[in-house]
Amino acid sequence: MTLVAEAENRLSVQFRAIEKLQLHNQAKVLSAFRAHRVEGRHFAGSTGYAYGDIGRDTLDALYATVLGCEAALVRPHIVSGTHALSLCLYGLCRRGTRLLSLTGTPYDTLMATVGIHPDENGIESVMENGVTYVELPLNADRQVDLDAACAVLRQRHDGGTVVYLQRSRGYDWRPSLGIADLESIIAAVKQADPECVVLVDNCYGEFTEEREPTDVGADLIAGSLIKNPGGGIAPTGGYIAGRKHLVERVQYRMTAPGIGAEVGSWPSGYQSFYQGLFLAPHTVGESLKGAVLAAAVFEALGYPVMPAATTAARSDITQSIEFGAQEPLLRFCRAIQAASPVDGHVVPEPWPMPGYQHDVVMAAGTFVQGASIELSADAPIKQPYIGYLQGGLTYQHCALAMMMVLTELLK
Ligand SMILES: *Cc1c(COP(=O)(O)O)cnc(C)c1O
Repeated sequence: MTLVAEAENRLSVQFRAIEKLQLHNQAKVLSAFRAHRVEGRHFAGSTGYAYGDIGRDTLDALYATVLGCEAALVRPHIVSGTHALSLCLYGLCRRGTRLLSLTGTPYDTLMATVGIHPDENGIESVMENGVTYVELPLNADRQVDLDAACAVLRQRHDGGTVVYLQRSRGYDWRPSLGIADLESIIAAVKQADPECVVLVDNCYGEFTEEREPTDVGADLIAGSLIKNPGGGIAPTGGYIAGRKHLVERVQYRMTAPGIGAEVGSWPSGYQSFYQGLFLAPHTVGESLKGAVLAAAVFEALGYPVMPAATTAARSDITQSIEFGAQEPLLRFCRAIQAASPVDGHVVPEPWPMPGYQHDVVMAAGTFVQGASIELSADAPIKQPYIGYLQGGLTYQHCALAMMMVLTELLK
């Protein structure tokens, strides 16, 4: 397909930059494995309470080193990114705390935790537990409104403030929040209120840049292991990382007061979590190349894309494409599904997915069910019909899928 080949020819600078990023992050991960003297015995499973589970505890320490912070909690029992973030919110926000979101409304699946929408089962949100929630929309340039944020923070709040930032674009037409931007935002909010705690939703962000939010002052971050840091190998799980006393607060929420992270077994062993982390810098780079290719191809066809193929910096693996109508969006998602190694014969349909505000169509023919570090596309069925493409275990798969998409769309 000439459109794909032509796009590739225009992207050599971008691809070289991604390869450099892969090398940097691979070196970082390798050096952490060496520093923690990872051995085959760390992969063994455990049972029961699993006190002193060396595989579990070393994996925590490894993540903390890779993410440049004091402590981490990496668990197969954290069922998803939503669970990891919900644990952080319930763990950090006490009665009287102010929760201040600087990136608009948090990701759809977190609205019930925050209390923006009531939970259908009557579970108390952090707001119902006595938390004051303040939400600042992004400004006209789709950036964090730092002046407004600092003005809020200078009005000290007795119960303290948790500042919430979402790195990835979610289901919004906006750029991801880059690490350099995060660095200056965190410096500014800490200056306005030195006691505030900064929590970052790091889903889809890991290894898309050389540094992570915890390297630039974020107090706590969370993400999913079936996205970037699982490298396409981890079968399930989530992580929370940051300052030790904050990770501790969350770990008592995760299990129970008094037991925290000292218990929790995993009989089938930890090899896939270690191996996934080791592969993650490479896998994320492949996904980034796939996203850049998709941007270039759809730009050439005249569709609005975010981010742009050659001019924009990326701090997540997601590529947004605006289709303008339902039919081409559905055809796009179906072509991505048809290009999948698993369930390639299945036709994805929009459905009211739990936790989402609109019907959503999700194309994910993945080895790990729903893993969006594998090539996948999803879209809420609403105007202006934006498709979100992400993941890809190999660049070659992304390129082949793009050829199939073009065949379908240009029919
Ligand atoms: C994926 C994601 C989440 C959490 O979603 P899960 O499907 O529960 O893992 C939260 N925030 C962002 C920005 C995400 O991309």
